[in-house]
Amino acid sequence: MNKGKLFILSGPSGSGKDTVLKQVLNKDKNVMLSISSITRQMREGEVAGEKYNFITREQFENMINNDLLLEYNVFVGNYYGTPKAPVEQALNNGTDVILEIDVNGAKQIREKMPDAISIFIMPPSFSELKNRLCGRGTESEEVINQRLNSALNEIKRANEYDYIVVNDLIENATANVISIIQSERLRLQRQKEIINEVLKNVESSNR
Ligand code: 5GP
Repeated sequence: MNKGKLFILSGPSGSGKDTVLKQVLNKDKNVMLSISSITRQMREGEVAGEKYNFITREQFENMINNDLLLEYNVFVGNYYGTPKAPVEQALNNGTDVILEIDVNGAKQIREKMPDAISIFIMPPSFSELKNRLCGRGTESEEVINQRLNSALNEIKRANEYDYIVVNDLIENATANVISIIQSERLRLQRQKEIINEVLKNVESSNR
């Protein structure tokens, strides 16, 4: 059986990455989202276990010490990390996995798993990103400023990615991410069994 493919999806807060991700997961049922463990407070509207498991700093540091994370990072004062076991299990079962992680986490994954395909969701402009972040109304001005600052730093590192998808329209960005996933599935490496299968049929029909 072919192993699953690992996809990294990054993009600054306010790039619309979460909405694109939701639509991708709705439309492509063959890809699994890795649930991150994080120490920030749950926001209104968030559901535990859906995208994140909300844990304490102590629990997170235990995961670090026991080598249970594929990667982790501190973002605006909180830990965010990818639990290793579920991702490895899914990939070994042939399931494709998406990691929605920041640029530092993406760098760690590329070093460990160089076959991972990385996609950066780019806002159409910085002023648009600013509007989206301020319009959320879920965070204090201080946190918004910290998030704007890290957004700028993330955009500066977009050239570390395999693909850049501009999120001008959610539908277009979603379709582009799905095309990237689909193209990777069609790569030779994942089609070798099919080639052998067809050749086997030719041999048996020639007998
Ligand atoms: P938010 O607090 O807005 O949900 O997420 C803040 C940032 O953390 C986003 O850039 C998001 O992609 C990133 N993030 C979410 N989960 C993980 C994770 O498991 N690892 C890393 N390195 N970053 C994560």
